[in-house]
Amino acid sequence: MSQKVGIVGAGILGLTLALRLVNRGFSVTIFDSANEIGGLASAWQIGDFIWDKHYHVTLFSDTYTRKIISEIGLDDEFDWVETKTGFYAEGRLFSVSNVVEFLQFPVIGFLDKIRLAATILYASHIAEGNKLEEVSVEEWLRKLSGQRNFERLWKPLLRAKLGDAYQQTNAAFIWATIRRMYAARRSGLKKEMFGYVKGGYATILQKFSEVLESKGVCFRLGNEVKKIEKSGEKVVLDETDTFDYAILTCPSDIAAKMLPQASEQEKRRLEAIKYQGIICASLLVRKSLSPYYITNITDEVPFTGIIEMTALVDKSHFGGNALVYLPKYVPSDDELFEAPDDEIKRNFLSALKKMYSHFSEQEVLAFRVSRVRRVFPITTLNYSKNLPPMQTSLKRVFVVNSSHIRYATLNVNETIQLAESFCRRYFQNETGSNA
Ligand SMILES: Cc1cc2nc3c(=O)[nH]c(=O)nc-3n(C[C@H](O)[C@H](O)[C@H](O)COP(=O)(O)OP(=O)(O)OC[C@H]3O[C@@H](n4cnc5c(N)ncnc54)[C@H](O)[C@@H]3O)c2cc1C
Repeated sequence: MSQKVGIVGAGILGLTLALRLVNRGFSVTIFDSANEIGGLASAWQIGDFIWDKHYHVTLFSDTYTRKIISEIGLDDEFDWVETKTGFYAEGRLFSVSNVVEFLQFPVIGFLDKIRLAATILYASHIAEGNKLEEVSVEEWLRKLSGQRNFERLWKPLLRAKLGDAYQQTNAAFIWATIRRMYAARRSGLKKEMFGYVKGGYATILQKFSEVLESKGVCFRLGNEVKKIEKSGEKVVLDETDTFDYAILTCPSDIAAKMLPQASEQEKRRLEAIKYQGIICASLLVRKSLSPYYITNITDEVPFTGIIEMTALVDKSHFGGNALVYLPKYVPSDDELFEAPDDEIKRNFLSALKKMYSHFSEQEVLAFRVSRVRRVFPITTLNYSKNLPPMQTSLKRVFVVNSSHIRYATLNVNETIQLAESFCRRYFQNETGSNA
């Protein structure tokens, strides 16, 4: 008989943990409240096409993602593309895709550009993020880049991702963002290549689940776990399923509610982690908006960026149409979560019309809205000191999730890395076999 592991969450973290643990001989069951696997990386239908619910790209330097995709047999399915970056500022759209274009970018003066470049260079050479947790991102950037750069550039960009919570966020956040931008160059590549697997995450998830099922992993989808308790040496899920181990990959405050036997102090620590959420619209449009994969926005518009997936993925995947995402990052209790799709559509499309003179609503073939209240944790000052450990006070019950990604932006590569390091730390000497 194998030792049994129950994993809560069939996102990339849960799937990676399942793969590593089933390979070590454990008997693994994954629960997810959703009817499909993939969590934030799951796919859905937009118009006549299936693609990622939230825009996803793999960087050439994402070695953990590439390794797992290779392990499940999809390495040959990658397409790698060099993409461009746009900037929408002061009512105009600019290409800022290389050094020359950056030098020509008229919104920032020459001396400020030098300061900005020095900030980025300096940040990309810092090896450890722990000291940066002690200083706020605002203080750090104002000091390094100057007041003007902060007000004109950094503040709108920080607000776009973090809202007002940028004021509580530590400097490791921006350091990690810059490092990801420069990861390719650190690894010796001249340019960062962006990649995707043909068919998007739908292909990856389909193959991942086939591999896991072939190894005996059991999926319990549409099954929201409400309670996890210890009973002697065993762990009991919702008073029915008994395991030797439970690993919760859901957000920390949800995990706190699922563990009635955890101490009040432990629950408070889990609940203290505050999350940023997202309202993310997908649009299928007849014509492209721009040639840019990402358009950063410093002006006030109802969304916080524009991601044109078809600047990366060939339009033939979408019948010659363009696929565009309009994300709006908001606090998890923001009232926009209650807004109906029609209202979001009206606001988003009327802003697009103002930004792109060639855009017309008649060109929109499909519009869908995704709402997720907890996407990534706000990394406040001295975040690590307050972070609950992955091992809970209940023996063999773990909470491991994006809150444990302290010095990186949220991405699949970091999520897989987290799963690998968790297994090394807690399951290194464990084998699933009782024999
Ligand atoms: C808009 C957006 C864009 C992104 N772009 C990129 C990108 O370009 N490149 C990249 O690498 N990464 C990107 N990411 C990040 C990537 O999606 C995440 O890093 C990854 O999917 C996180 O996986 P996870 O398993 O940790 O969490 P999740 O995907 O959140 O999985 C957690 C799972 O737990 C389940 N769950 C929660 N509570 C319960 C319960 N009580 N019972 C049962 N199940 C439960 C949920 O349904 C969910 O499926 C993006 C994310 C977003 C939102």
